[in-house]
Amino acid sequence: MMHRPIQATILTQNLCQNLHLAKNMCPDSSSWAVIKANAYGHTIAGALKGFSESEGLALLDLEHAGLARKLGWQKKILLLEGIFSKRDLDEVLRLHCDHVIHHEEQITNLLSWFQQQSITNQVGFLEHCPIWLKLNSGMNRLGFKSAAYGVAFEVLKNLGCKVHHLTHFANADDDSKFPSVHSQWDIFTKATQFFDGLKSAANSAAILHHPLTHADFIRPGIMLYGASPSGIYRDIASLGLKAGMNLRSEIIAIQELQAGDQVGYGAQFTATNNTKIAVIACGYADGYPRHAPNGTPVWIGNVNNILDGGFAPTAGRVSMDMMTVDVSHLPYANVGSPVELWGELLPIDDVAEAAKTVGYELMCALAPRVSVKIV
Ligand SMILES: *Cc1c(COP(=O)(O)O)cnc(C)c1O
Repeated sequence: MMHRPIQATILTQNLCQNLHLAKNMCPDSSSWAVIKANAYGHTIAGALKGFSESEGLALLDLEHAGLARKLGWQKKILLLEGIFSKRDLDEVLRLHCDHVIHHEEQITNLLSWFQQQSITNQVGFLEHCPIWLKLNSGMNRLGFKSAAYGVAFEVLKNLGCKVHHLTHFANADDDSKFPSVHSQWDIFTKATQFFDGLKSAANSAAILHHPLTHADFIRPGIMLYGASPSGIYRDIASLGLKAGMNLRSEIIAIQELQAGDQVGYGAQFTATNNTKIAVIACGYADGYPRHAPNGTPVWIGNVNNILDGGFAPTAGRVSMDMMTVDVSHLPYANVGSPVELWGELLPIDDVAEAAKTVGYELMCALAPRVSVKIV
C-alpha cells in the first residue's frame, strides 16, 4: 500500500509540560484542560495522555465525553455549553459530567427531566453532576445577565444542585478593547458575591495576563497546545510553551524554473531568476490554509536538528494535495527531504500570522485524512 508521507505527531510530553506551566502560574487554582474541537485537533486520546494531571477536562460534545470515559478518564468532565436537548441529561448523568447552564431553556429542560427520574437517578444527578451557571459579563454570547443570574441560581439550589459560577472573557489578550477583563471581572464578582460555589473565568490569555482572575478553576486551551492566544508567537516566545503537534511531510518532486516561469493554479508565483521549486505532499485537504500567501514559512531539512535545515517560503497557490516552496537557497533539498509545516521547529503561530489567521484555526482544521501518531 502506498502512503502519502504527511503525518501529524501529537507530542504528549509537551502537552503535559504546557499544563504544568499553566498550573505553576496559578498555584491556587485547579484546572479544566479545554479539549473541545477534538482537543484543538490533537485528538481526545492524545489529550488524555497529555493532561492526565489536570483535575478536569472541558469540552462540548457528549460523544467526546463518552470517549474520554471509555478511555479511562475518571476525573471531572465539564460540558462547556451544557445540554442541547432534554435527553442529553440521561448521558450527563451516565457519564457524571459537570455542565454549564447558560440559558433559561436549559433550566426548563432540567426541571422537567428531573421530575421524570427515579429517586436513584435524582440523587445520582444531584451528587455527580454539578452545575456551572454562566454569567454573561459582557461578551454577549452565552450566559445570564446579572439581573437574571440570582433567580437562576436560587431555582437550581432549591432543586438541590451543586451550583458553581462561570464566565468568559472577550478580550483577555487585548487590554485596549471593551469589554475589558477588568469590567467583566467586576461584573462577575458583583453578580456572584452573595452566593456560595466555586468560580471559573480565566482562559489562556487571562491565565497569562490577568492573575486576579485565576479563581478556583482556570480553563486553559490554546496555551496547552503551545500557541499564543493573541496569534502572535513573540507574545509567548519567552514562556517556554512547546508545540503540541508536529505536522510533517516530504518533498515529492523538484522543478527547475527559469525567469518568467510560473507555478501552480492561477500562476500566483513567477520566477524572476533560475528557481528551484519543491513540491510538498500537503494541501488544503490536509488542513493547510489555502489562503496562505507566497512567503509563508516552511521548514525543510533534518527535522531532528534545527542546525541542519532551513526555512523556505511558499511560492504559488496551495492546492488540494500539494504545495510549492522556493528552495533555491537549499542545495540539499531533494525528493524525500523531510518538511515541517508547523511544530517544534516552526511555530504554528508564524504560519498562522502569514496566513492572516490564528493557531487555533489551523490546529482545529487538521483534516481527518492526515494520519495521527500519538507519542
Ligand atoms: C475555548 C474556551 C476556553 C479556552 O480558551 P483558550 O483561549 O483556548 O484558552 C475557555 N473557556 C471557554 C468557555 C471556552 O469556550
